[in-house]
Amino acid sequence: MSRFVARSFVVVSRHATARSVVSPRRIPAFIRPVSTSQGLRSLTRYNETTDWQKKLTPEQYVVTREKGTETPFSGIYLTHSEVGMYHCVCCDSPLFSSEAKYDSGTGWPAFKEAHGTWERDESHASIIRRPDNSLGSAETEILCKNCDSHLGHVFEDGPDPTGQRFCINSVALTFKPREDIKPDMEGKE
Ligand SMILES: [Zn+2]
Repeated sequence: MSRFVARSFVVVSRHATARSVVSPRRIPAFIRPVSTSQGLRSLTRYNETTDWQKKLTPEQYVVTREKGTETPFSGIYLTHSEVGMYHCVCCDSPLFSSEAKYDSGTGWPAFKEAHGTWERDESHASIIRRPDNSLGSAETEILCKNCDSHLGHVFEDGPDPTGQRFCINSVALTFKPREDIKPDMEGKE
């Protein structure tokens, strides 16, 4: 409650007392937002935002932190077919196995299930589902369980046996090829 009061005061004071603003040089350099109280949550989020902007490309940032969507048929993993694991581009959590990847024809990488899913149980997967009504239709958003990164959406029109279509932005992912394939396993055709 006090946050809103303080915020509106700042807006007012910008006009009313502009000439009496303390010089930035008078502010001690060691002041920083150390409080983790609920009242300063917005301040904490601002710092997280700053870090993500440094860590990510602008396109990665818009998709993963601002729930953007990459242009269809533009993503680098759309037709990617190497064997390995797709990780979260933000925090490196393993999200989707190449074994679950398929061509949905929609323009985005598609997966039948999340890595760690056992039958329909996603409690050990690295993704979470969240209702998304932002586009006026009841969709289900998929996020990284570890860092809250927006990954894409899931739909009920996927192939057997799961019937699920995880429609995921390429820029939200980073691929790591499977390194434990033994040379003697290759050529087994
Ligand atoms: Zn993540």
